[in-house]
Amino acid sequence: MELNKDTDQFDIPLAKRTYLNNPYSTSLKKFLIFSPFLFLIFSFAALQFIRNVELIPLNNRKFQVERNHDARILGHLPYNETPKEKLVLIEPNIKVHMDMRDSLLEMREEAEKDGIYLVFLSGYRSINLQNDIFYSLKSIRNQEAAERARVSAPPGYSEHSTGFAIDIGDATQRETDFETDFENTDAFRWLIKNAAKFHFKLSFNKDNKYIDYEPWHWRYEGSIEALKVFESSNRKL
Ligand SMILES: [Zn+2]
Repeated sequence: MELNKDTDQFDIPLAKRTYLNNPYSTSLKKFLIFSPFLFLIFSFAALQFIRNVELIPLNNRKFQVERNHDARILGHLPYNETPKEKLVLIEPNIKVHMDMRDSLLEMREEAEKDGIYLVFLSGYRSINLQNDIFYSLKSIRNQEAAERARVSAPPGYSEHSTGFAIDIGDATQRETDFETDFENTDAFRWLIKNAAKFHFKLSFNKDNKYIDYEPWHWRYEGSIEALKVFESSNRKL
């Protein structure tokens, strides 16, 4: 028994001493204690790296501006032609997208109640018609010719192809049709004050750096489809 006891007493402290004095074990212990912190630091660094890589193209304004410049022709953004089944006739010669018809007619009625007479000059235009307006003066009516002299969106680049754009005049001052002078009419003043209630917005205001000021040209943004169509135009550069 005594021998065993001595052996135990001898062995155990020796084993403990050996373990504690082993430099590798001490390092391992330290590593195990700090490993959760190291893991957190590396995870955080990795996350930051991934986020930076993903955000660089979105935050790089120069890149975005250059990309938008590429999409435009003569300052006009590209637009698809609205399918015919989505168009409705609101005047003998004027078709618009079905989403905006009710708002447009309602706006004209409300204006009349205030003694303002809006006249619709041009709505949907097919890419073919836009082609004629852009390239051929002979094939277009006087009204279109007058507009062409003021603004010539290339075919495929006109908001009118979407059916969500409408050119508006003042029925009591037709000489201002498609003229910058339209901004001095009661109709224009009424539109500036009230059009937003009917989800209409001036497309090319004085601040537009790409396209001339067009006080007569309004677009509808009151449906999801319309908002999608004008998403890039509304994107801040
Ligand atoms: Zn227009």
